[in-house]
Amino acid sequence: SVRVRFCPSPTGNPHVGLVRTALFNWAYARHTGGTMVFRIEDTDAARDSEESYNQLLDSMRWLGLDWDEGPEVGGPHAPYRQSQRMDIYRDVAEKLLAGGYAYHCYCTALELEARRDAARAAGRPSGYDGKCRTLSAEQKAAYDAEGRESIVRFKMPEEPITFTDLVRGELTFTPDNVPDYGIVRANGAPLYTLVNPVDDALMEITHVLRGEDLLSSTPRQIALYKALIELGIAKEIPSFAHLPYVMGEGNKKLSKRDPQASLNLYRERGFLPEGLLNYLSLLGWSFSADQDIFTIPEMVAKFDLADVNANPARFDLKKAEAINADHIRMLDVKAFTEACEPWLKAPHANWAPENFDRAAWEAIAPHAQTRLTVLSDITANVDFLFLDEPVEDEASWTKAMKGDPAALLTTARARLEGADWTSPESLKEAVLAAGEEHGLKLGKAQAPVRVAVTGRTVGLPLFESLEILGKDRTLARIDAALA
Ligand code: GLU
Repeated sequence: SVRVRFCPSPTGNPHVGLVRTALFNWAYARHTGGTMVFRIEDTDAARDSEESYNQLLDSMRWLGLDWDEGPEVGGPHAPYRQSQRMDIYRDVAEKLLAGGYAYHCYCTALELEARRDAARAAGRPSGYDGKCRTLSAEQKAAYDAEGRESIVRFKMPEEPITFTDLVRGELTFTPDNVPDYGIVRANGAPLYTLVNPVDDALMEITHVLRGEDLLSSTPRQIALYKALIELGIAKEIPSFAHLPYVMGEGNKKLSKRDPQASLNLYRERGFLPEGLLNYLSLLGWSFSADQDIFTIPEMVAKFDLADVNANPARFDLKKAEAINADHIRMLDVKAFTEACEPWLKAPHANWAPENFDRAAWEAIAPHAQTRLTVLSDITANVDFLFLDEPVEDEASWTKAMKGDPAALLTTARARLEGADWTSPESLKEAVLAAGEEHGLKLGKAQAPVRVAVTGRTVGLPLFESLEILGKDRTLARIDAALA
């Protein structure tokens, strides 16, 4: 059965490219009834951090991308943090050396550079030239005596390597393009080039789905895998599927450091996990020709690697927002009111906690639900209910109070006072009639009322808002605006 892995390195903040990789792996595991392995590739002590590790787990949980084997969950191949598997890698490296699949390389950085430059100048392939492949025991002893350090280098086969990428089709890499490569540093630390395929082998991964940026490491990993099979460590070479690049502004690859790429940004703005995942699933995959809004279970039901596209995908924030808005509308009202809760409290909300009025919130929530793009917008939409006074927004005030709105506001106040406050329709008629008295259409007449009561020119449906705010507070705010 299918076994996929999501194996990030805990460096920095999670970004959308990483989430897309996690999602495709997870969706494929869930679609096939396979196993999702979550592995932490923390072999680079200089760059990895515990904070980033915790963020990765927290992000996966927030997104709802669960794993069957991995940190905190355990599994038959534990531990799932590479920093706790160093003995395994040391042992495999020894076996590769003993079996003649790898060798000690004593070339210094300076020597390598000089030979690379010479090869380039002569128009020859500039990768590692294999110098240390054939060192005699005496030469090695001499180097050791000199105190030279050595890395472990994997010996690439002389033949081209061909494999069928499940997204890109058949690919061939010639030996010139894939020279022998380092797998263990001079200080004994194993490199990604070793630990990643070794763990894929030991964890019996069947499908490697990852970003296109890793395509060039695939021929090396396949060669290493063949050695592992001969040594009885691996069973079978996995299938590979390289997911297309995600392009950002100006058709450049979306960089990890691009602020738009940060997962935390989407969380802080109040994207729903399902809205974000729906959008990210479209980066390289499509649900159908005429539908791009769907639930995650619907995605899982349809997701297949055969439909993943090799062309670069463009990251489009506006589209992500529009999809998120649709997912907000898809929530039932109760789920929506609950999802907004964090934004109705400090530090997001600037009203005193005791001002929060649950009944008013539940009354206004359905009107807000159809208008939000991201949940964080909720505070500005409902703050008029919970602040003692409406926000002071000079631009709104100037715009709505052009000319002399006092006459209109006075009439509107009088009419509203006599209206039926159990009916938004009646409140609307009151403002409509006040407008008619002053030769103003409803839109023009309601603008000063809205600004007097909510502080802003735009907001939720006005007459429902007034009803929920209540007669006394509404009239008092109009009085304050007239004063
Ligand atoms: N730890 C690697 C990375 O984060 C994993 C790459 C892979 O999927 O093979 O880039």
